[in-house]
Amino acid sequence: MELLNKYFSWLQKDVPTGEVEKYPEINQNGETSVKGIFIIGDLTGIPLLKLAAESGKKIIDYFESNEEFKKQRFNKTGNDILDVLIVGAGPAGITAGIEAAKKNYSFKILEAAKKFNTIVNFPKAKPIIAAPGDYQQQSGLIINDGIKESLLDELNAQLKYIDLPIDENEMVDKIEKEGDHFLVVTDEKKYKALRVVLAIGKSGNSRQLGMPGEDLPKVFNRLIDPEEAHGLDVLVVGGGDSALETAIAVSSCAKSVTISYRKPTFARPKEKNAEKLDALVQQGKIKLMMESNIKEVKNDSVILSAKDGVKEIPNSIVYTMIGKELPTAFFKRSNIKMEGELSLTVKLQFVLLILVAGVIYFGKSSAELFSSFFGKMNSWTDAFANIFSIEFWAKFLLLPLGIIKIFSTGEIKIWNATEYVNAFIAYFSLTGVIVLGSYLLYKFFKDYGSQIKPNWQTCKYFYFIAVALFFAIVFFGGRYFGVEVLGKPQTFWYTGLYSLTILIFGLRRMKMKPTRYIKIQTWTLILIQALPLFIFPEFLFPYLGKMGALGTPDGFILTQIFPNGSYWRSYGFILAWPLFLSNIYNSSVTGFWLVFSFAQTFVFIPLIVYRWGKGAYCG
Ligand SMILES: Cc1cc2nc3c(=O)[nH]c(=O)nc-3n(C[C@H](O)[C@H](O)[C@H](O)COP(=O)(O)OP(=O)(O)OC[C@H]3O[C@@H](n4cnc5c(N)ncnc54)[C@H](O)[C@@H]3O)c2cc1C
Repeated sequence: MELLNKYFSWLQKDVPTGEVEKYPEINQNGETSVKGIFIIGDLTGIPLLKLAAESGKKIIDYFESNEEFKKQRFNKTGNDILDVLIVGAGPAGITAGIEAAKKNYSFKILEAAKKFNTIVNFPKAKPIIAAPGDYQQQSGLIINDGIKESLLDELNAQLKYIDLPIDENEMVDKIEKEGDHFLVVTDEKKYKALRVVLAIGKSGNSRQLGMPGEDLPKVFNRLIDPEEAHGLDVLVVGGGDSALETAIAVSSCAKSVTISYRKPTFARPKEKNAEKLDALVQQGKIKLMMESNIKEVKNDSVILSAKDGVKEIPNSIVYTMIGKELPTAFFKRSNIKMEGELSLTVKLQFVLLILVAGVIYFGKSSAELFSSFFGKMNSWTDAFANIFSIEFWAKFLLLPLGIIKIFSTGEIKIWNATEYVNAFIAYFSLTGVIVLGSYLLYKFFKDYGSQIKPNWQTCKYFYFIAVALFFAIVFFGGRYFGVEVLGKPQTFWYTGLYSLTILIFGLRRMKMKPTRYIKIQTWTLILIQALPLFIFPEFLFPYLGKMGALGTPDGFILTQIFPNGSYWRSYGFILAWPLFLSNIYNSSVTGFWLVFSFAQTFVFIPLIVYRWGKGAYCG
C-alpha cells in the first residue's frame, strides 16, 4: 500500500489535486437558479482582481440590455423598491455600483465589513499581480500591479469623486422572493429590490484545523502585518498561494518559518510565488514539511505527524491558511442551488446517456441482424420513406417477437447467441432513448421555450439537439441502412463533430476565462483534436499521398505507416496503446506501428510523465 501511495504521489508530480470547490450554479449571464439573483466576482470561479472588477461592469450592461428588467423598473409597485441591490463592496460590487450610478439606477451596496475588505486584509506590503497582464479593462475601476497599499490608495483615489451609497457593517443574512421583488434581510434591516447582485467573494468562514489548541491566541487565519512575527518561530499551515505568500512575507523578520502541508506538492502556486519560495528554501529561511499534519498546538510548540514520524517543533505563532469555505449556508437559506446538485431532469439526462451508450455498444455487433429485419436501403430517400412508414414501425414493434421466434427455431447456437442478446439490449435501449428523449425534448421546450433568445445559452442547447439528430442520422444510416452522409464513413463525421464541439466550447471557455493558462491549455487541446486527430488523417495525408508527397506506393510511408491508404493510423501518433487498439490488433499490423506503439507506451509516455507529471499527457 505504502509503495502504491508513493507511486501515485510520484505520478501526480505538481499537478493540482484536492477537492473541487462547489460554486453556486449560474448561467452565462451570472444568474443563479433563483431568477433575478445574480453572481459576479470571485464567486464565478476565477479569483482575480481585474476579472472581478470587469464582472461588475458586465452585469450592469446586461441589465441595461434586458427588456424584462426595463419593464419591471417601469412598473415598480413601490418607491421603496430598489432597482438593484449589490451585496459586497469588493472590486466586483464597487464596479457594479459605479456602473449602476452611471445608468441612474436606484441602488445600494451592502457590505458586511468595510469597503475592499478582502484587500484590506491582505498581508502588509503584499505584492499585487494584476493578472491577466494583457487584459484590457473596460470597467470604471482600474487595477494595476503594485503592492497592497498602493492598490488600496489607487482604488480609493478612483472613488474620490463618486458618491456610492455603501452601507458598511451590514451583513446580508438571506434573500427571499416577495411578489415582483426580493426581500434582502440583513442583521439590521430589510431591503426590497428588483435584482440582487451577489458580489460577496469567497470570504466565507475560514476553514478550521479541528485540532486541540486551535483556539489559542497565537493561532491566526490571516496575516495583517509581517512584523507581528518578528523574531518568532512561525508555522504556516497550508499549500495554497495565501499560505506561500504569508511564509514569504514573514520570512524577512521571523526567527524561523516552517510550512506544513498535508500533500506532497503545493496546489498550483502562482509562478512568482513558487520562484520566491524556492529561493527562500535554498537560503534556509523557510523549511518545508510536506505530507505533514498538525496534531496539536501547544503554548510553545506544535506537534505534527510527518513522513518520518511524530515531531514537536518550537513555535510562537501559527498561521492557518487552509482556505475559506464558500458561504454555502447563505446560499441554502436563500434557496440558491449549488453546482453538482442533481435535479430530476439532470438525472434523467444521465439515464438517457447510458441508454444511448447501450444502443451504440450493443447495436454495433447486432447491426447485421437489424438490417436483415429492415432490409438494406439504396438511398437516403429510401431510408426516410421507410422510417416514416407504418410498416417500418410495425416491424420495429414486433422485432422482439421476431428474435424470440428465431430462438424457437434452434438457429441460435452458443457461438452466435451473443448477437441476439445484444440485439435485445440494443432494442430496449433504443426504445428507452425514443421515449425518454422525446420527454426531455418536450420538457426543454416547455421550460425554456419562453427564454429562447439569440444568446449563447440558446445556441448551446440547439447545438446539442442538432448534434444529437445528426449523430442519429449518421449512426443509423451507416450502421443499419447502409447509407452514408455525403459518401463519408461514420468515423469521419464523429471525429469532425467532436473537433467542432471542442472548437466551439473551447472558444467560449477562453472568452469567459481569458487567463494565459486557460488560453494556452485550451488552444493546445483544440489544435491536437483538430489537426492530428481530424484534418491530417482525413484531408492532409490523403492529399499528400495522392500528390506523391509521401513517397512511392512501395516506399516506407505508404507500406509501413499508411498501408493500403489507411491514413486513420495516424491517430496512433497521439493516442497510445491501449487507448487506440487498431494499429496493433489488426489484420495488417506493420513493423513500424509495432515498434512505434511499444516505444510510445513504454518509453516516450513514461519519460514525459517522469519529467512533467501525468497531466502532460492526459491534459
Ligand atoms: C491573500 C490573497 C491574495 C490575493 N492576491 C491577488 C493578486 O495578487 N492579484 C489578483 O488579481 N487577485 C488576488 N487575490 C484575489 C482577489 O483578492 C479577488 O479576486 C478579489 O478581491 C475578488 O473581488 P470580489 O469583489 O469578487 O470579492 P471580495 O473582494 O472578496 O469582496 C467581497 C466583499 O463582500 C463582503 N461580504 C461577504 N459576505 C457578505 C454578506 N453576507 N453580506 C454583505 N457583505 C458580504 C466581504 O466583506 C467583502 O468585502 C488575492 C486574494 C487573497 C485572499
